[in-house]
Amino acid sequence: MSAAYSLFTAKEIKPRGWLARQLKLQAEGQGGQLDKFWPDVKDSMWIGGDREGWERVPYWLDGFVPLAYLLDDEDMKTRAKRYIDKILEFQRPDGWICPNGDVPIERYDHWAILLIAKILTVYYDCSGDERIPSCIYRIMKNLYELLSSERIRLFDWGKHRWFEGFIALNFLAKRYPDEAWIPALARLLKEQGTDYEAKAELWKTPMYQWTQDTHIVNLTMMLKSEAVSCELLGEEYTDLAERLERVLKKYNGTSFGGFTGDECLGGLSPIRGTELCSIVEQMYSYELLYAYTGDKKWAERLEKLAFNALPATISDDMWTHQYVQMSNQIACVPNHGRPPFGTNSTEAHVFGLEPHFGCCTANHGQGWPKLTVSSFMKAEDGIVSAVPIPSELKTEWRGVPVTVTLDTDYPFRHSFVYRVEATAKTDMALTIRIPSFAKNLTLNGHPVSAKEYLTVHGFEAGVSELRVHYDVTPKLVARPHRLYAAEYGSLLFALPIETEWVMKEYEKKGVERKFPYCDYRLMGHSDWNVAFCDRALTAEERPIGEIPFSAKTPAVVLKTNLCHIDWGFEKGYDTVCAEAPTCRKPQDEGKTRELIPYGGAKLRMTEIPLVRQGKSKKP
Ligand SMILES: [Zn+2]
Repeated sequence: MSAAYSLFTAKEIKPRGWLARQLKLQAEGQGGQLDKFWPDVKDSMWIGGDREGWERVPYWLDGFVPLAYLLDDEDMKTRAKRYIDKILEFQRPDGWICPNGDVPIERYDHWAILLIAKILTVYYDCSGDERIPSCIYRIMKNLYELLSSERIRLFDWGKHRWFEGFIALNFLAKRYPDEAWIPALARLLKEQGTDYEAKAELWKTPMYQWTQDTHIVNLTMMLKSEAVSCELLGEEYTDLAERLERVLKKYNGTSFGGFTGDECLGGLSPIRGTELCSIVEQMYSYELLYAYTGDKKWAERLEKLAFNALPATISDDMWTHQYVQMSNQIACVPNHGRPPFGTNSTEAHVFGLEPHFGCCTANHGQGWPKLTVSSFMKAEDGIVSAVPIPSELKTEWRGVPVTVTLDTDYPFRHSFVYRVEATAKTDMALTIRIPSFAKNLTLNGHPVSAKEYLTVHGFEAGVSELRVHYDVTPKLVARPHRLYAAEYGSLLFALPIETEWVMKEYEKKGVERKFPYCDYRLMGHSDWNVAFCDRALTAEERPIGEIPFSAKTPAVVLKTNLCHIDWGFEKGYDTVCAEAPTCRKPQDEGKTRELIPYGGAKLRMTEIPLVRQGKSKKP
């Protein structure tokens, strides 16, 4: 089976509307500025310095490079090229490229090789730099020689992330189809890599201990493993991702479509954390799974993470982030005594420069840029609107230059204006993915029936406009512990808690935290001990603010009836709510309250009981 769709690049796609504002925030925030102040990027061994020479610079470039090209920012492109130039300059004649320093290559974790080779494909897609294909060729050929001669064996991270090497191997296989070592290296990676299907039993009960086999980032990366590797391995695609995701979701699923993992799988509790790296890696897995299979479930799951989990765990100015987020999060302050997490420190949920650990600092930047690049995809018969976010695609269809723009405030609204501009008549089809929650679909004002996709075949020369609209009904979805969460299309909603951001500036291990990259502890100052009185939910649109997911200007709210209950704290804590309410008896009649998008509500209650208090009334 070959891939259903192929991906465009940051050269061909540009963000518009709220998405352009979001990417600008990232460029002006931590992800766009890390090379100016964070030692592990600024003074990395990758560019001749003495700081971390393993995953952090590649992680950072994975987001920074496409961001620079999506925004067409010359300064950022120059800064990205400076890193690439240095990395290329240090490649040894035998192909080895990683700055292993004094560590023998047998003991240097080979994950960094797989990662830098992937990042170089991203740089090539963006820049077209002709030095890159031969550089990747030499990196991977060297890896083949080291593995096939048994001088090295994959271990630790390299062993658990073996499939990441297939991004570079697929890139090479297209360019060097006759090189037998490429499929041979593919087989070696798989043989020495972890077989996750054999580990699935371990995912059914939280272990409260750190293991690679239950590590949330490994597992979310792993979801794409079969899709990226099966063609080169000559194997059938069996939807392994769906089989394994079912187990992960059943025993560890969260309200926002991720898995609990702080940083190893943590069960179904709404107060266990989920690491930010896992969110962006799960998004990337879904982007590739959708492109490979064309199965729209992956695109819907991608949206849920992107529009909820990603903005929820990064501050409005994109200067600080959490290591882990919780569905029900009434405060983000270090706890006294034992952390509420399975394998993290007590500060893992504060917002800061590198709370708990710095991987997410470097890695989170890939989230928005890669989502943007996935807005349109290329099919055999034309263009697919895969994730309907405001964007523009400039490409060619069978020799005819075409521009497709999409103006929309989705996911906050459900109206879409597509403009197709073609310099000559074209047979290019435009296929629009219709989500499963869409109702009363119209095209240019006329009702149409389309279950999964709406396709328009061919366009005249000039500009054609397609106006698409559908309705969405808000609903309560059942969660474990007899709790419920409110959803409206791809958006998850939560009761926001009035939040005080307490700044903390300090220095730790020679790394300065100062505004705007200081830490913040979040204190809650309003009630959170609530229950749904009934299932009534009414959506109300509000103006979309400069910061798309800000709690200060929610672009849409859900009105609902909430009453108070004696929810209670988790035993031993006064800043963590109980996993499930200690008592569900209503304490009052309830009143109409507003839920806001989860992505904006940094302190929130998301999973709430339904107590059927009073008469059901329209809020
Ligand atoms: Zn991380």
